[in-house]
Amino acid sequence: MKFQPDSNGYYGQFGGAFVPELLYPNVKELEDNYITIINSESFQKDYKALLKDYVGRPSPLYLAKRLSEKYGATIYLKREDLNHTGAHKVNNTIGQILIAKRLGKTKIIAETGAGQHGVATATVCALMGLECIVFMGETDIERQAPNVARMKMLGAKVIPATSGSKTLKDATNEAIRYWIQHPETYYLIGSVVGPHPYPDMVARLQAVISEEMKMQLKAQTGNENPDMIIACVGGGSNAAGAFYHYLNDEDVSLIAVEAAGLGVNSGESAATSQLGEVGVIHGSKTILMQDEYGQIVEPYSLSAGLDYPGVGPLHAFLHETKRAVFMNATDQEALDAAYELTRIEGIIPALETAHALAVLPKMELRKDQIIVINLSGRGDKDLETFIKHLK
Ligand SMILES: *Cc1c(COP(=O)(O)O)cnc(C)c1O
Repeated sequence: MKFQPDSNGYYGQFGGAFVPELLYPNVKELEDNYITIINSESFQKDYKALLKDYVGRPSPLYLAKRLSEKYGATIYLKREDLNHTGAHKVNNTIGQILIAKRLGKTKIIAETGAGQHGVATATVCALMGLECIVFMGETDIERQAPNVARMKMLGAKVIPATSGSKTLKDATNEAIRYWIQHPETYYLIGSVVGPHPYPDMVARLQAVISEEMKMQLKAQTGNENPDMIIACVGGGSNAAGAFYHYLNDEDVSLIAVEAAGLGVNSGESAATSQLGEVGVIHGSKTILMQDEYGQIVEPYSLSAGLDYPGVGPLHAFLHETKRAVFMNATDQEALDAAYELTRIEGIIPALETAHALAVLPKMELRKDQIIVINLSGRGDKDLETFIKHLK
């Protein structure tokens, strides 16, 4: 139970629900209902059926032989990149759209960074015939054009966020502002962030990743626990899903990898656990990058999905209690790892995912060590960036 939030949504000192008075009824309605809905037979039936026949789950657990040989360990890749829409995000949007429908909501709003969550949300809104508005930073709209086109084709309205760094945190601010003005809408948050119960709800919906990993590892290695699980962290949802059913298994090391941008101390970074301090962002108490006046410091990463100044409260707690080890990778290290995986395994990973791969050269590994890397998404959306930096 140590890694479950308490009844007020706190993991240790982190979490809670810091929302404006006007949004309190929305958050309370969700809080009062989410666990009952998720645990209900009808939800589980619909959720499991869509994950299987629409998303394509279970995602394979692939033994990457050439990668294993290169790093002297036994490395498996959990293939979330093979999901419909190309990343883990859809596990959560499928779950939340089913919850929104059960709460009688007809209009969905969402924020997006790389565009992956926007696409996953627009997709499930099309599937369910619900109206969809996606807030996205102007900078991200420029660097993620293919995903913007996808959202529009799926029928979503994409609204640019033009304040601050014009990236994910600004899109989130716009989404919250809109929610306050239109409290009848359902806010579909894309990571384990935001006010309680979102972090716990999203973690439960992504937990299917580690649920499958346990069965697949058992079948392939005879033991459901690996020695180590590595996942990249933006807000923390793919990592939360990959870690979830292992949180209490102390024999499994959990490695969370943040984006160091141009270097942790370069002033152009998104390595929150290294640079952040305790504060409140987007409705929860967590660690975030801020200046001496508590103003949020603009994060930087070449990867739009990791370009966020905070981490979810569960991750802040995992960091504080040292249950997870936080590492980081620079833009260049991630690019190199992406080129490497492409050349030796024939898999083009998302730039976010490449950060998780990029810590392999920094570790001392043993042949008999079983490592699972959560391959959170595919790299199609990043092709332009990859080609631009290819030497
Ligand atoms: C959005 C995204 C991430 C980062 O988000 P988390 O909530 O930290 O998982 C990582 N990888 C991919 C492919 C993404 O689309």
